[in-house]
Parts: sequence; C-alpha cells; structure tokens
Amino acid sequence: MFFGKLKEAHGKVVINRNWCKGCGYCVQYCPTNVLEMSSGYNPKGYHPPEVKSADSCRNCKFCELICPEFAIFVMEELDEEQTSVAAAT
Ligand code: SF4
Ligand code: SF4
Repeated sequence: MFFGKLKEAHGKVVINRNWCKGCGYCVQYCPTNVLEMSSGYNPKGYHPPEVKSADSCRNCKFCELICPEFAIFVMEELDEEQTSVAAAT
C-alpha cells in the first residue's frame, strides 16, 4: 500500500551559538520539542539553545525560518536506503 512506503523525515539541527541572542523562539515554536535553552552563555552573554531530543526533529525547518539571527539551520538526515540511492546517482 502506498502509505506504507512513506517515511518520516528527519533533520539534524546545527546551532551557531555565537550568533544566537537567546530569544527562545526556536525552542518555543518547535512543534516536536527538539530544543531547550542551555544554562551556558555564549560570548555575547546569551543562553543559546541546545538539542535535547535529536530523534524528534522532523526537518520542518520552522526553527530556521523563525530565528531572527540566522543562528540555526537544519540539514536533512537520510536513512540508509536513501543514502545508498543518493550515492548511486
Ligand atoms: S526543523 Fe522543525 S522539528 Fe526540527 S528542530 Fe527545527 S522546528 Fe523543531
Ligand atoms: S531563535 Fe535564534 S536567536 Fe533565538 S534562541 Fe533560537 S537560535 Fe537563538
């Protein structure tokens, strides 16, 4: 059945801690609660986010879109089957 072949999208979050101004938008609006604010400081004195639940990221890129500082982006994570297809092309 067609729907049985659909796969969940996965993303890998990359945070540029130095650009972050600690607004918390990415944490607040992530639909799957991937992120949390860290207790540490970056060089500007802000608390940047950190990944608390990497497996929950669905690569929706909303955190990337909403960040006013361009301090976070997401890369698609391919599963083994997708990786071998990509390597063959
Ligand atoms: S890409 Fe979507 S699911 Fe992943 S951390 Fe960003 S907002 Fe959350
Ligand atoms: S939205 Fe951007 S500036 Fe705000 S906490 Fe997240 S990474 Fe930092």
